[in-house]
Amino acid sequence: MESYAAFCKPLLTRALASIGLNKTYHRASGNFLYYKNEDGQEIEVLDLLGGYGATLLGHNSPVIREKIKSYLDEEIPVHNQFSIRKPAALLAERLNALLKEETATRGDFVFCFASTGAESMEVALKSVEFTRNAQLLALEQEVAQAANILEHGAEIVLTQEQKQQLRLEENPTAQEIKLALSAFNQAQLDSKPVFLALEHAFHGKMMVTANCTHGGMYRDYLKRLKINTHFLSSAQLAEFAEMGEKTNDILNGWIWLPQEVNGQIVLSKKRVRTVAALLVEPVQGEGGVYPLNAEQVAGINRLKQILGCPVIADEVQAGSGRCGFLVASSDVGIDADYYVLSKALGGGYVKIGVVAIRQESFTPGFDLIQSSTFGEDDFSCRVALDYINLLHADQRKLLTQVTQLGNEFKTRLEDLKAQYPDVIREVRGKGLIWGVEFYDVVNSDSYILQNISVQSGLGYVISGHLLCGSHIRVAPSGSAANVIRVEPSVFLDLPQVIRFIEALSRICLAVHHANAGFIVAPLLGKSLPSIITDYRRRNEDKEDDSEADYKAAFVNHLISADWLKEVDPSFALFSDEEMALFVENTSFNLATKPFKPARIRSANGQSVSFTLYPIPVTSKMIKSALAQNDLERLRHEIDIRVAQAAQAGNTVVGLGMFTSIITNNGKSVKNNQISVTTGNALTVGMGIEALQKSMLHQDITQMRIAVIGAAGNIGRVYAEILGPQSQEMVLVGSNNHGSVKKLNEVKYQIYQNIYEQFVVNSQPVMGGLAKRVVDCLSLMPANFLTGKPVGEAIDHYLNQHHADQAFIRISQNISDIEHCDVIVCAANASEAFIPVDKIKTGGIVCDISVPHNLSDDDLINRPDIQILRGGIVQTPYHDSLDPRVRAYLGEGQLYACMTETILLALEQYKGNFSYGNISAKQVLDIMALARKHHFTLSEIKGNSSL
Ligand code: PMP
Repeated sequence: MESYAAFCKPLLTRALASIGLNKTYHRASGNFLYYKNEDGQEIEVLDLLGGYGATLLGHNSPVIREKIKSYLDEEIPVHNQFSIRKPAALLAERLNALLKEETATRGDFVFCFASTGAESMEVALKSVEFTRNAQLLALEQEVAQAANILEHGAEIVLTQEQKQQLRLEENPTAQEIKLALSAFNQAQLDSKPVFLALEHAFHGKMMVTANCTHGGMYRDYLKRLKINTHFLSSAQLAEFAEMGEKTNDILNGWIWLPQEVNGQIVLSKKRVRTVAALLVEPVQGEGGVYPLNAEQVAGINRLKQILGCPVIADEVQAGSGRCGFLVASSDVGIDADYYVLSKALGGGYVKIGVVAIRQESFTPGFDLIQSSTFGEDDFSCRVALDYINLLHADQRKLLTQVTQLGNEFKTRLEDLKAQYPDVIREVRGKGLIWGVEFYDVVNSDSYILQNISVQSGLGYVISGHLLCGSHIRVAPSGSAANVIRVEPSVFLDLPQVIRFIEALSRICLAVHHANAGFIVAPLLGKSLPSIITDYRRRNEDKEDDSEADYKAAFVNHLISADWLKEVDPSFALFSDEEMALFVENTSFNLATKPFKPARIRSANGQSVSFTLYPIPVTSKMIKSALAQNDLERLRHEIDIRVAQAAQAGNTVVGLGMFTSIITNNGKSVKNNQISVTTGNALTVGMGIEALQKSMLHQDITQMRIAVIGAAGNIGRVYAEILGPQSQEMVLVGSNNHGSVKKLNEVKYQIYQNIYEQFVVNSQPVMGGLAKRVVDCLSLMPANFLTGKPVGEAIDHYLNQHHADQAFIRISQNISDIEHCDVIVCAANASEAFIPVDKIKTGGIVCDISVPHNLSDDDLINRPDIQILRGGIVQTPYHDSLDPRVRAYLGEGQLYACMTETILLALEQYKGNFSYGNISAKQVLDIMALARKHHFTLSEIKGNSSL
């Protein structure tokens, strides 16, 4: 359904797709929802989410449906606002009687009607403020009257405390006192309301209710509204309840009223209620399913007494029968002044919410200013009344059934917890709202599970697994991602309960076995594997707890998705395509946990703790982002990792592979607390060393060398270093716009270097291209160098006067590598592209690019080609990366760019190193450091078996 993404929920649609929840349900009946799969087959899904608690009778209850049909046939009015509305009255009357009975109270309730839970809660919050306002207006009058006393001229006697509060000096005049008193009292009377709510609270997503909802994501962005909500933890609640009157001083305000006593005026304290209300859910649903415990209930009731504020019981989710009662507060003994119902009250069909207000807490007049178009409509009210009557029919039979079925869930879920004490942290709930909290998997032996944890995604992935793998629908709690919420209908049968428990039990075993593959499999369209293999690593990940001397970080990414099965062996069951799909789908959230550090030692005995900070995207994905110039997100992800690395105490961060390219060789990175390097200098240095070693007995000055990717920074430096030594050079660039210009610049630079080194500075010239150019220049008239940059002028001269000789050629045609003796590959491509048939017999190829520019498969039939993967370094003590993240590396090996990062940490280098374009000098400098610490070029392999 692309239009849902286009016109309704752009980001959410992607998020749903990433966890397999992007189904379109076309039918709902009883305990089931139905969608059609790709083959058009109808799939039946056991719905344990039930509209987040709204379908206690299941979907499309036949009993309610018959009633609805009759209302439609009767043509009952829906829009008869501003009249005497009988169904609303009947519903209110019935709810009043039931509420009084259930809460064992005498007084009546007044009811306000709305359509949704949040709307109803907003109505309740408005009502409490309406009442508070009335009280404040009465106080205001009292203050005005009392102020008259001050005019009598009697002496005003103030205590030290009063002087302080009124900010008065030692001997104030009567006028000063009057003004200060008036200002103080008015400020108190104008105080903004304070709402008290509990930790984990959820009260809706409208302006004020969102501010009363604990989860930061719902309210942080609303902070400028400055709605005062205090969220109380259980401990704070107990503390406030304990402190009695002192709590009143902390949370409420007061005014000072002048009184005449024995001919003097004194000030007496009178409370101003700042706390508008205390909001509670008897079972907190969205916040992670937390039923209130006895201490909390006692605290709430006591706090209400102390503060004199109303308690609003938000029964939107827990009420209307969900916990076996009309209001769940009644069972735990909350002394509420407001009961707010919605969700299930609509019988699964209509949108309705009601606010029941105790008569003594209701301020007449509120009914004049509160209404909503759909509130009190006959249709919804009649359906709600039918629903309530159904719940209470046959001596509350359905409500009793809720409790019985709830006990079944409780027993079975607790058994499961006993079976997997390391997987399930807690089982909580009441009636038919249950939460299963999983332990955080951030330290799982599965790296994929670790990342799922970092993305707060465990509950979501489990929900996706249950839906796609077992056709069971649950959802995590929005503010508690490790909690699976279960809110079934009262008609669920035992085999259905068992079906759920068994599916959950398989997930528990998979989590226990660090088997992320099993959990993810159904999200990738795979059927559930029959065996849940154990992938725990049995102490292999034991941290080396001796401190390393230095810390270095390295940002990397996936070469291709199939490497995932190395990173997390439980992914071995997936094909390359499935892994690619996984990477693509999960790219919605790119957060990862840094990979367990490796310890790399220098020959001098000092060590570096080396941590990878991976971005879970492939070279191909980055390449396409590059092509579309859509780099903002990836750069942001790199910035996040650089900041994390700095915070974790790393002194250097290396930018691996494409991360250096998309940051303009580090230049876009927004951080100056840590040294940044692309590692390019050592990459080039080691590449050249590899080449020189492999040409031991051959004369480089007789060779034609091609540099593929010469317009890029690495290729350019290669060309600058090798060009003057070679016989002749071909600089090959891509077809990208601007490539020719860059290739020309490289060519000019090489000529300029030759000129400066051998002509201006008169260094001895050995041979090769440098010598030939110098020889030609000796004949060049001096005026040829005026008016143009040196390099360009030399190029012109050579073209005009020595066109018969070949010097440096630029090309955008890869076939021009033909006849070259040496080919240096430094192109950034997401896959191999060099045509092997164009490589000269016996040619040397130095391919430092990752992924390689020349494919291993193509090389099979060309044993004559000598291939060098020059960017690989041997560590002094054979220290290695974890085998899961070595990619093409062997034991004791590192990539040169990683080594450069480590060298800079060992040297405690300040500032950035390979940053922006590197120079030939940097190559020499970093090579010297590599020698100092004994990081050497790894053994040159004759093939690519690295
Ligand atoms: N209060 C509570 C306790 C809730 O659970 C919810 C909904 N999850 C609401 C308020 C808001 O209800 P609605 O989504 O109908 O606005």
